[in-house]
Amino acid sequence: MPAYADIVFSTAVRQPFTYMLSGEEARSEAEVGKRAWVPLRKHKAIGFIVNIHNQVPDFDTRPVVKILDDTPVLSTELLELSRWIHRFYYCGWGEAIQAALPAGLSFHSEKKLRAAGGPVPEHLDDRESEIVKEIQKHGSYSQKEAHKRWNDELVGRLVGQKLLEIWEEPAVKMEARTENMWRWRDENARDKAKKLVEEHEKADKNYKWVRALKLLTELDLPEFQRNLTPCELLEYYTLNRIADEGLIRAEEVESNNLSLRHEHDPTRLKTLNEEQEEAFEQIHTALESRNYASFLLYGVTGSGKTEVYIHALKKALEQGRGGLVLVPEIGLTPQIVKRFYMIFGDDIAVLHSRLTNRERYDAWRALQQGEKRIAIGARSAVFAPVRNLGLIVVDEEHDASYKQKDPAPRYHGRDAAIMRAHINDAVVVMGSATPSMVSLQGAKKGKNTMLTLRERPFEATLPEVEVLDLKQYRSAMRGPIAVPLFQAIEAALEREEQAILLYNRRGFSFYLQCGECGEIPECPNCSVSLTFHKSKKQLRCHYCGYSERQPRRCKECGQEAVHPKGSGTQQLEEQIAELFTEARTLRMDFDTTSGKNAHADILKTFERKEADILVGTQIVGKGLDFPDVTVVGVIDADTELAFPSFRSGERMFQLLSQVAGRSGRAGKEGKVYFQTWQPDHPAIQAAQKHQFNEFAHQELAQRKMLQYPPYSRIIRFVFKGKKEGRVRRVAMAYTESLMETIGHPDPVLGPSPAPISRMQNYYRWESLVKIKPDNGAGAIEQLLDRTFERYEKHKPRGASSVRINVNVDALE
Ligand code: ADP
Ligand code: ZN
Repeated sequence: MPAYADIVFSTAVRQPFTYMLSGEEARSEAEVGKRAWVPLRKHKAIGFIVNIHNQVPDFDTRPVVKILDDTPVLSTELLELSRWIHRFYYCGWGEAIQAALPAGLSFHSEKKLRAAGGPVPEHLDDRESEIVKEIQKHGSYSQKEAHKRWNDELVGRLVGQKLLEIWEEPAVKMEARTENMWRWRDENARDKAKKLVEEHEKADKNYKWVRALKLLTELDLPEFQRNLTPCELLEYYTLNRIADEGLIRAEEVESNNLSLRHEHDPTRLKTLNEEQEEAFEQIHTALESRNYASFLLYGVTGSGKTEVYIHALKKALEQGRGGLVLVPEIGLTPQIVKRFYMIFGDDIAVLHSRLTNRERYDAWRALQQGEKRIAIGARSAVFAPVRNLGLIVVDEEHDASYKQKDPAPRYHGRDAAIMRAHINDAVVVMGSATPSMVSLQGAKKGKNTMLTLRERPFEATLPEVEVLDLKQYRSAMRGPIAVPLFQAIEAALEREEQAILLYNRRGFSFYLQCGECGEIPECPNCSVSLTFHKSKKQLRCHYCGYSERQPRRCKECGQEAVHPKGSGTQQLEEQIAELFTEARTLRMDFDTTSGKNAHADILKTFERKEADILVGTQIVGKGLDFPDVTVVGVIDADTELAFPSFRSGERMFQLLSQVAGRSGRAGKEGKVYFQTWQPDHPAIQAAQKHQFNEFAHQELAQRKMLQYPPYSRIIRFVFKGKKEGRVRRVAMAYTESLMETIGHPDPVLGPSPAPISRMQNYYRWESLVKIKPDNGAGAIEQLLDRTFERYEKHKPRGASSVRINVNVDALE
């Protein structure tokens, strides 16, 4: 039996720690993929077993206290994927594993208080003895709860007197989740309700709760509250009002319900057209061979890529294998989920960021146990424990949200998907209307097989795009929009059609400026100006969340001359509302979508045609299919170019192409308008004419000349610390070590202050290195190991207070 276990923790430390497996129990239970409770420095911590062996280490080892899981929580394949991420993206192995586990199974432990037994000593005062008694009663007490309830100092004193003890316990268990279910109070309640409604209607009394009651009589109770409250009429408050009448009651039930309640009818599978069939056949053949294969499915929006995914998934399931569908975070809309649900029903587990820990855990378990065979989700769903994985779909593979920026692991969801497909001998299909240069290059070099859909399944054609040169319309603007766009919207409204107006969030900000001295209030923690939120009369930092009340006087000169400046999302909506007084406007951006279902609610409102104009950031631009939208305008098509990144042209093209592909889907003709100061820019020209290949050709030539990805791989290093001098010195020393390791300085850029040189009170410097694109996990690990080794010998004083973040394949 193994005598030692190598264990990793959720930290950046890259080496595993070796522990002793002492005792029969630990030895027989220890297994790779399980978590263990072990001593770590002065505390205990949850670690993850990555290896068990009999090699006696040449240092003292401490024993494992307890094995926490009955069965491994991570399969061998997912463990292998996490190891690849650990090596390729150069993070702690435990950090990568943490990303793969749902919260209920993670490494968290909790501080607890427990009381010494026996009678409470007499010398304590009332408050003190109450605390001790209460904790005795509970056996143990979470320190967080204690902190909320009692004075810290008081508790501290009791700990000092050894009447209370602080200890740590792994937070493993997930509490069962309960939720409200509404039902009729008794069997006659529904009839009573109907009568009551009739009486009120006769008396012409139009109370809100009576209208709600009427709706309830038409619905099928019992029903979960979460399914009722999305309906405006059935607010919690109103339901309680009805309960007061003695008609309905709420019941707490344990909920473990992952069912989505969309329509499910597998016979609604569409027959593929010829082009789709051709693409599908190649994927099918690859699935049959049960070897790794990768495809790049290229087709404009609406060309039927999703239908191809659905058919391929169906094949994988027929083979007895599972499937994984990755979509960009903001692409995970109810619309796309509905389409998969229609065919696959409860085989689907949806993993989105708004799930509670409990919901995520349940979905994860259901997949692991094979109760559900398909996972659909954003980036982190690449770790979903789908059994016997056969097919991975990466929709909108070019989307930047697939790359995790912070914290580590800074992995790319698409590339992790490719690696996972390799590990599982699975097929990966990456789809896009505007493939990334990396995937395109991969297709050229034969790494991916390119599949193309040229036509749209219906008569729907690509919309005409008109480029509006803002220089030319300078004196013909209606507020933020040029006259032709204004007229188009007016005409659409007249025909009772809808319009969408998009702006680039990065280009819009609304701030305060002093009219006397020009001072603009800045965030005290970050080197950026504060954004003004008019409705809340607040200034807020979009990087760290700092906020303050709108000041009356300028902090610099003390004058009462602080005025709103710039253009904000709210302001834009207001201007639009003023221009089209008859129209109902709706806004969708980061601020309006932070609530749990806000995103879906806004879309539903627009879909039901309860609004005429939707104003929003690029959140609006994806995965939407509104039949009545016939005008789409981009207010500021070229702001992306203002950002210093080799990818800004690509990103602008992608954004505009997505938009241009949007309108006019269901037969009605649509028109798209780009407002720009640079009408001749290649990205705008190409997007206008729906010419991806032309754009790609030019873009690749330029990248090659400058040795940017895909002709290189970029690793970015960010140095962060509270003392500017130290950050600078560390950046210099590290960058020098990097140059020495590589052998010549050419491919290293920097160090220099980061574009936002101070964020959340941390000064930031950065360096870049370009390495050969075919460098894999082994080469990257070796390069960075050697660099860090060298740096360790030359690091300046105070270096330990400066963090060095590594970002492999940084997007900007
Ligand atoms: P994409 O994923 O490329 O944006 P979709 O798969 O969403 O394209 O297809 C666009 C529209 O055309 C959808 O409404 C879809 O249901 C419909 N569609 C696609 N393929 C077919 C087909 N073979 N038969 C009938 N309708 C189709
Ligand atoms: Zn800030």
